Amino acid sequence: MTEKNDNVRVRFAPSPTGALHIGGGHTALFNWLWARHNNGRFILRIEDTDLVRSTKEYESTIMSGMVWLGLDWDEGPDIGGSCGPYRQSERLDIYRDYANRLVNDGKAYRDGEAIIFRVEPGQDISFRDIVYGQIDVMSDGLREKDSDKLKDIVIIKSDGMPTYNYAVVIDDHLMRITHVIRGEDHISNTPKQILLYRALGWDVPEFAHLPMILGRDKKKLSKRHGATSIYEYRDMGYMPDSMFNFLALLGWSAGDDREIFTRDEAAEWFELSRVTRKAAVFDFDKLNYINQEHLKALDPEVRLSMVRPFWVEAGLPVEEVEKSRGVKYLEDSLTLMAGRGRTAKEMSEFSDYFVSFEPVKSRWNAEGLDKDKLREFFAAVFASTEWKAPELEAIAREWIGQHEGAKMKDYAMPLRFALTGMKVSPGIFEVAELMGREECRKRLEFYGLL
Ligand code: GLU
Repeated sequence: MTEKNDNVRVRFAPSPTGALHIGGGHTALFNWLWARHNNGRFILRIEDTDLVRSTKEYESTIMSGMVWLGLDWDEGPDIGGSCGPYRQSERLDIYRDYANRLVNDGKAYRDGEAIIFRVEPGQDISFRDIVYGQIDVMSDGLREKDSDKLKDIVIIKSDGMPTYNYAVVIDDHLMRITHVIRGEDHISNTPKQILLYRALGWDVPEFAHLPMILGRDKKKLSKRHGATSIYEYRDMGYMPDSMFNFLALLGWSAGDDREIFTRDEAAEWFELSRVTRKAAVFDFDKLNYINQEHLKALDPEVRLSMVRPFWVEAGLPVEEVEKSRGVKYLEDSLTLMAGRGRTAKEMSEFSDYFVSFEPVKSRWNAEGLDKDKLREFFAAVFASTEWKAPELEAIAREWIGQHEGAKMKDYAMPLRFALTGMKVSPGIFEVAELMGREECRKRLEFYGLL
C-alpha cells in the first residue's frame, strides 16, 4: 500500500464532441478512484475549444453518463470551485496572457495571428510514467523528419483558440493537478507538454497513462464490437454498479481474485501502481457475469426498480399488479429470479409471467396433452389445504407414486408451461406458491387442466 495523499488533485477533461464512451468512462473512473482513494479532489474540466464540434448537449450527456456510473466530481463547470472557470471556452483570456508571456520571454513567436512555441533541440524530455515506466524522448524527436526545421508547437491558432497541448498545460497547472491520468494515446503528447511546463517555469505533474481497450479480436474497441456509448449499456439493462465494476477491471486488479466489488471497495483498494500497461480486452461474457452477480446481490426493492422499466416498456400492467397484489409480490418474484438473467432486461423477460398471464398465452397453447390425466393430478394438488411449495410438492409426489408409470416431469412440465409459458423457470412449486392459488387456478382452467 502506498501512502495516501489528500493533496491529490486529478481531472477528467472530456471534449464535448460526443457521448460518454467506454474509453472516456474508463478514464473518468480511474481518475475518480485515485481521487477517492486519497481523499483528494476529482475535477471535471470541459475541453470545448473545438467550437464547431462541441455542444452543450454533449456536455450534459457526458455529465449524466458520469452520474449514472456513480462518478461524482468536486469541482466542475456546473458546481464551480476555486480554480474555475472549468470550461476552456471561458478561459481564453488566460491562455492569451500566458502566450504573450512566452512571446515576451522569447520562447514563442507570432506568425500572423497565431502564436508558436519554439522547440529548442538537444533537450532531454524523457519522463517516467507511473504505468508505462521510463519513456525516453529528446526534443530533436519533435523535429520534422524530412527537413532540419524544428517542429515548433502552435499554441494559439490564427482564430485565437488555444491548441490542446498548450491549454492542457495551463489548466493542469492552474488547477493544481497532481496526477494526469488519461488514455495511452496521449503518451506522445506528453513530451510537448513537458517542454511547455518548463518554459513557463512550472513543476511537471505525475503522468499515468491508461492501457488501450481492445475488442475481443484484439483490435481497438470500436462500434464494430457493439455498443460503445455508456448509455447503450444502461438501455440494455446493465446496472451502473456492474458497469463501474467491469470498467475498473480493465487494466487494474485488486491484487487477488476479488472480481465483484462496490465503488467504495474499489476506491479503498485502488493503486495506480497496479494499473497494467497491457491492453485490456472488453469481454462481454465478463460484463454479463459481473452484472448477474450484482443483480443477484441487490436489495429486492432496488432489483425491482432496475427491472420495472423493462416490464413497463414491454407493455405489462405493472402498476395494476402493484395495486392489486402489492409491491412485495413483485419484489418476491424477482428474488425468486435472482441469478437468472444477465441483465435487468433479460430478467424482465424471464419473469414476465409474474406480472401478466398474457405473455404465457402467447407462448403456449397446451396442444397434444392428455388433459384427463392432468386434470386428475391438478385436482389432487389443489385439494391441498396449505398453498406452500413443500406441501404442493409432497402432494404431487404422493400422487405420482400412486399412479403406475406416472413421472414427475410429465406433470411438472405442463404445470410450468401453464404458469410461465417457459421451459425454464425457478422451482415450479415455488412459483405456484408465490403466484397464489387463485392465479394458478385461473391459468390451469384457461388451459382446461383444472
Ligand atoms: N480533451 C482531451 C481528450 O478528450 C483530454 C486529454 C487529457 O486528459 O489530457 O482526449
